[in-house]
Amino acid sequence: MDCGRDTLAKLLAGVQTFQQDVYPGNAELFESLAHSQAPSTLFITCADSRISPSLITQTQPGELFIVRNVGNLVPAYGEMLGGVSSAIEYAVAVLKVKNIIICGHSNCGAMGALMNLNDPKLDGLPTVRSWMRNGEAARATLGELKAEDAGPAQIRDLTENNVLLQLAHLRTHPAVARALAQDSLTLQGWYYDIPKGQVSVLDEQSRKSRPVSEVLSEFGA
Ligand SMILES: [Zn+2]
Repeated sequence: MDCGRDTLAKLLAGVQTFQQDVYPGNAELFESLAHSQAPSTLFITCADSRISPSLITQTQPGELFIVRNVGNLVPAYGEMLGGVSSAIEYAVAVLKVKNIIICGHSNCGAMGALMNLNDPKLDGLPTVRSWMRNGEAARATLGELKAEDAGPAQIRDLTENNVLLQLAHLRTHPAVARALAQDSLTLQGWYYDIPKGQVSVLDEQSRKSRPVSEVLSEFGA
């Protein structure tokens, strides 16, 4: 066993390439970011390694304030005051982000766990099980459906319902409620299909997903 030496060397070689080949062409951008940040958007997504927020939104350093965790969950205010709630408070009250996006994704392991939180397989993962309780109301929307009967359509429903639930939790945070009341903040839910490279926008009213092109046309773009 190489204890990760090969992959660590690959990361360090990547840093070297960044320093030697990428940084010089972007030095001005990095220098402009030396003393402050003014991101437009708080982007909340899963810790899953297959999601690259900057790649799928084609954004540069300084544009997205990113919070990642297992299952892209946002505990309701007061439930679990910790990393997620403090990042939200800071992003909204101090950085004054204009948008908060919650992005769920296909083949999410956390959604598989949420499908059946009583699964004995989770007995060895007490922290994950407890964390996933923040998504339990999304599981409840599927009714009595047994985990073993859940196909891709049901898993996608669960993933989308979870994003919608987390948007609702977001509104319980005082900084978010205040910014929404002042009309200075927009919330949006996304679903990212990894193999297709497609992002869908979730409509909170209809609970349906819409292609980006359709939503974008409403911006007059
Ligand atoms: Zn995930």
